[in-house]
Amino acid sequence: MRVLVLGGTFEASKLADLLAGQSGISPILSFAGRTTAIRPPQIPYRIGGFGGVDGLSAYLEAENIDVLVDATHPFAGQISRHAAIAAAGVNIPLIVLSRPAWVAQPGDQRIEVADMAAAAAALGREPKRVFLTIGRLQIGAFSAAPQHFYLIRTIESPAFPPGLPRHRVIHGRGPFAFEAEEKLLREESIDVVVSKNSGGEAAFAKLVAARHLGLPVVMVARPRQAAGPVLHDPAEVMALLLHHCSTLTPRGV
Ligand code: NAP
Repeated sequence: MRVLVLGGTFEASKLADLLAGQSGISPILSFAGRTTAIRPPQIPYRIGGFGGVDGLSAYLEAENIDVLVDATHPFAGQISRHAAIAAAGVNIPLIVLSRPAWVAQPGDQRIEVADMAAAAAALGREPKRVFLTIGRLQIGAFSAAPQHFYLIRTIESPAFPPGLPRHRVIHGRGPFAFEAEEKLLREESIDVVVSKNSGGEAAFAKLVAARHLGLPVVMVARPRQAAGPVLHDPAEVMALLLHHCSTLTPRGV
């Protein structure tokens, strides 16, 4: 059975580990190619976009894919939409693997917002020191609030210098430890944290540190997800794939 896993996440890599060496399943992991330092998986992989829905559909056909697993990041809305349309178009099952969203805990000072523009507005008029942990792509939204200082943490440098008059970029890739996160927030005299509701363990420590220090967190909600069941655990996906494998007539390996 041929399985295409759309990846770029910790969960996708974990599923790839589970798939490695699994008899009866021939998997391939797909990366968008956003980061230059990809950690090579133990299964075959490809890098780069497919060319929209049509390109993905053509790939599914050409590679005789039997099951599509969308294990992309909860904020990667476009590829998830494409996956849902393409899988339906070529009539193969789609399994969505996505980590659960973070739910506010007692003591959290959460400001829930719908998108990055609302996050910038939620920072208020008074200049603040902001810890911006939203990745590289949407930093531009904060040019609407240039009065603040932004400590921007990304995995790799933004493609363009952030158009913010007062900022500093630091690099880091999770998992992050609570002690280090609390130290950073203290040393940088951070007033407020901005985060996407990515969920998962790797970036959770900053929320605990903010709670500990009594700092507000502006939390950007996830884009609307495609309809259909969502699994949270790579092991559950593996079990479902094995079930499919035992019931499916392969389209050819
Ligand atoms: P996106 O906006 O949903 O997708 C933009 C385009 O990138 C897609 O239309 C597709 O190009 C290509 N693409 C995305 N994921 C792909 C994959 N796994 N394999 C092949 N092509 C892919 O995605 P994004 O937000 O830019 O995220 C890109 C990747 O980074 C995703 O794989 C995601 O899992 C990972 N990631 C995203 C975030 C985030 O916050 N957005 C955080 C961590 C990791 P074509 O239309 O040409 O097929």
